[in-house]
Amino acid sequence: MEPFLGRDGFGNPSSLHSEGQRAKRALDEARAVVAESIGAQFSEINFNSGGTEADNAALFGVTLANRRRGEHFVTTQIEHEAVLHTARFLETIGFEATYLAPDAQGLVTASQVLEAIRTTTTLVSVMHANNEIGTVQPIAEIGGALRGHNTYFHSDAVQTYGVYPLNVHELGVDLLTVSAHKIYGPKGVGALYVRDGIPIEPLLHGGGQERERRAGTENVAAIAGFGEAVRLMLIERETTAKQMERQRDLLIGMIRERIPGAALNGHQAQRLPGNVHFSFPDIDAESLLVSLDLTGVAASSGSACTAGSIEPSHVLTAIGAASEARGAALRLTLGRETTDEEIRETVEILTRLITRLTRV
Ligand code: PLP
Repeated sequence: MEPFLGRDGFGNPSSLHSEGQRAKRALDEARAVVAESIGAQFSEINFNSGGTEADNAALFGVTLANRRRGEHFVTTQIEHEAVLHTARFLETIGFEATYLAPDAQGLVTASQVLEAIRTTTTLVSVMHANNEIGTVQPIAEIGGALRGHNTYFHSDAVQTYGVYPLNVHELGVDLLTVSAHKIYGPKGVGALYVRDGIPIEPLLHGGGQERERRAGTENVAAIAGFGEAVRLMLIERETTAKQMERQRDLLIGMIRERIPGAALNGHQAQRLPGNVHFSFPDIDAESLLVSLDLTGVAASSGSACTAGSIEPSHVLTAIGAASEARGAALRLTLGRETTDEEIRETVEILTRLITRLTRV
């Protein structure tokens, strides 16, 4: 007989056995759908607390597990902080990093990667799409170029997961980061894809969960929610991405038409469907953001605010868009619920504010 542990949510006798079984089934179902969504095997998906942890696990995991072979890794100057700050920390404990410089549109190339790798390079990490300026990197090309080289390839796909069909084999990646909240799932849960057979040191040591790659009892409710979000994403992704792309181009076109001097940051064509990022010369960034906020338009400055002063972000600095010290940079992101009416309204408001705030 199973041990009696009270009643479950339906008033039925619950047991350790059935509770464990339910959790395992929920984890299995979520793992299967996440694996399917990126063309991976069930066993290659490791659940964790989100994109930040997945990036940390990839960088620490591969560099530490392969340290005897070499202490060099390659990444780019425009990665998310979850990669960049981890890379900087790895440098403080004896690793050597090369940070590839993007071109003015935020692109890095496969030949830059090939030039940077050495016999001691164990990892290359290049994000799929940039979260600030929206530039989409040629990951499949880089993956193809790295084939045959003795180095592992990681990509942070947090920004692209909900908008492009991803396949780890076509991309040629050994590790891939995804996060639930960017696909309308719960916050605080994500996954790292690790190709079977890749030596990786776990970030968390303890129990044997996630095939000994991430110790600690899984957050079953969050993971089940993640699985459900992936299921819905697979149904809606194509339609949503098309709508966002159309609205993005509408917004970009209207801003260019109405606001002289507005300069689009990021790649003109290879950019995320929902990303619009402009620089406005001669506009005070803080005043623009505050005024937009007061009108109900939620925008991001595309800059890092530190103790009252707005500094250009590391991304804008890397693409050379930070030199207009007297300008404002603005990121507007579209979602699946954005309407054409909201786009037109935003352009009206923005045009009015820019005219008012233009320094003479
Ligand atoms: N990587 C990129 C490109 C992101 O945009 C984000 C967050 O927005 C992260 C990593 C961090 O993911 P999380 O918030 O799930 O920790």
